[in-house]
Amino acid sequence: MRRLRRSESLRALVRETTLEPGDLIYPLFLCPGEGVRCEVSSMPGVFQLSVDEAVREAEEAARQGLGGLLLFGLPEAKDEQGSGAWDENGIVQQGLRALKRTRTAKKLVLIADVCLCEYTSHGHCGMIVKSGDGWAVDNDSSLGLLGRTAVSLAKAGADVVAPSDMMDGRVGAIRRALDDENCADTPILSYASKFASAFYGPFREAADSAPQFGDRKAYQMDGANLREAMREIELDLEEGADMILMKPAMPYLDVVRAARERVDVPIGAYQVSGEYSMLQAAFQKGWLDHDRAILESLLGIRRAGAGFIVTYFAKEAARLLS
Ligand SMILES: [Zn+2]
Repeated sequence: MRRLRRSESLRALVRETTLEPGDLIYPLFLCPGEGVRCEVSSMPGVFQLSVDEAVREAEEAARQGLGGLLLFGLPEAKDEQGSGAWDENGIVQQGLRALKRTRTAKKLVLIADVCLCEYTSHGHCGMIVKSGDGWAVDNDSSLGLLGRTAVSLAKAGADVVAPSDMMDGRVGAIRRALDDENCADTPILSYASKFASAFYGPFREAADSAPQFGDRKAYQMDGANLREAMREIELDLEEGADMILMKPAMPYLDVVRAARERVDVPIGAYQVSGEYSMLQAAFQKGWLDHDRAILESLLGIRRAGAGFIVTYFAKEAARLLS
């Protein structure tokens, strides 16, 4: 076996899996204001950005040949329904319009996250209703708001909408809403199997979207279930999803592989905030080699079967790959 490992050129010739900047999607967190670059303390190197700063990031991402951007928003104010999500002048809508005006942004796929948790005062991904002594996230009353959000983002310039809420039937509801509102060309990237995970912790600081009570286990998936993930994916595809996104990546690579073998649509995986932050922590301690660990973590996700990867390391990785 070692004959083919003797030189870098030989290793390159027989390499089975590739990793390119165009495979990588860079998440951005948009916030109000001007000239704002506010570092997320649990995610070194990740910033909440005002729209003008986000435009600058996008120009760099385009220069680096990244595949696209995934946009999240931090609204000025939150309410029970999360109305900032579908506000025509919402923060992501403003960002999309500004990005669409730049020439470099045309080289990037602009993907807009569709969810309510960044915009609701309670921090849940759907509508809250009373249930006995407690509360519940109501499925069906959330669907209309998600559809409305997707339409608003598509009209503001999103090339792709990406529902991440995990309500049942939301892909169908969003598809119908898009079709009814002259957005039939907008594809849906559904977070088809999104597991309730400890690895989302740092994101909640970045997007200011921590639930104010309870947790998300009644709508996000149980981490033990691979067969259930396949059912989620099949339902989303039946409802009209064009691509699927798996999340988190590293603790669920077997699920990515199973999905790759089962369905033929494009599959992406999200190397989530906790995966990023634990590597950053190890880099800060000097315990792992920064450059090699970043590329190895991404290559592993590609090898598992993801065609593209959403990652906070996108710019770093592109630099290492160039
Ligand atoms: Zn959410």
